Amino acid sequence: MIEDKNTPKTSLSELGEFGLIDHLTKGFEIKQETTTVGIGDDAAVLDFKNKKCVITTDLLIEGIHFDLSYVPLKHLGYKAVMVNLSDVYAMNAQASQITISIAVSNRFPLEALEELYAGIRAAAKVYNVDVVGGDTTSSTTGLLISITAIGYADDKDLVYRRGAEENDLLVVTGDLGAAYLGLQVLEREKQVYKANPNSQPDLDQYSYLIERQLKPEARKDIIELLAALKVKPTSMIDISDGLSSEVIHLCKNSNVGVHLYEEKIPLDPVVISTCEEFRLNSTTVALNGGEDYELLFTIKQDDFPKIKANPNLTVIGHMTNEKDGMGLVTRANEKIELQAQGWNPIKE
Ligand code: ADP
Ligand code: MG
Repeated sequence: MIEDKNTPKTSLSELGEFGLIDHLTKGFEIKQETTTVGIGDDAAVLDFKNKKCVITTDLLIEGIHFDLSYVPLKHLGYKAVMVNLSDVYAMNAQASQITISIAVSNRFPLEALEELYAGIRAAAKVYNVDVVGGDTTSSTTGLLISITAIGYADDKDLVYRRGAEENDLLVVTGDLGAAYLGLQVLEREKQVYKANPNSQPDLDQYSYLIERQLKPEARKDIIELLAALKVKPTSMIDISDGLSSEVIHLCKNSNVGVHLYEEKIPLDPVVISTCEEFRLNSTTVALNGGEDYELLFTIKQDDFPKIKANPNLTVIGHMTNEKDGMGLVTRANEKIELQAQGWNPIKE
């Protein structure tokens, strides 16, 4: 929201396409042994030997997926990497490389792209992935970012959406709903700022929510934890569209039903208090909010003793026969059918 008008800005046309690519990509180090050739040739070369390779991609568009009036470009770069790594971890695989494609208009100075790349660099460093390529082109108006993430796993370790069976336990990592509420807080502040640009927002009490919205972390730690505990999930998915829609994906892909217990859904205290303030139902927010980037998976009941003491993991239900349907068991012990309210681009 705060424009820095004092520092001089460099127009992208001063550098040209190749100058820009060189500038943005200089200093990317290769750390992964699976990277044979990184940036600089017509294509990267990777060598996964006897491992299976996983690959996933996401496209983020200004005005649809992000609003630059309150999303700092550095955070955007970091988050764009996270949403992709999260999909790799959801396969129970290790992420090893990313490629970054951007389309950018002249409205962005070089310094803006440097910020974006600072976020990308930070994410690549923290998560130990190599940046091995990308593409750079112009756009007439907004900013587009497409990241592809590449990873690997032993064939036997890969976990799909389709493997859940009746009586398996349904487990979620972390807590839910905070990222959605962070977005509500930021949207509200944007309106306040529009009405009065001199207002000084005090967002301290919402810092957890805003951090979950602007700087999510993909759960690489959980993949390592499950390996250490010797627990292989029977099915897994990451939570990008909201718990409800992801539970339904696991059920449909695995041909099972579910009992999901409302009282078990993990919520941070700030989520509960902010829901009261915004007059929102915290269960609805957790079910349909989205962008949590937590992992949702099923395990065999025999594995329960291995996970039960871990504060990062919460059992929220169990899988049932397909005929029983997909139900949320409420605090009042009523069963209501789960609805997918994930964002549907076709319906817009
Ligand atoms: P080509 O004409 O073959 O597409 P480019 O000139 O677009 O090649 O890219 C040169 C090199 O820089 C390639 O290795 C490409 O993957 C990489 N690259 C291009 N744009 C980006 C970017 N935005 N981020 C990271 N790497 C990039
Ligand atoms: Mg190119």
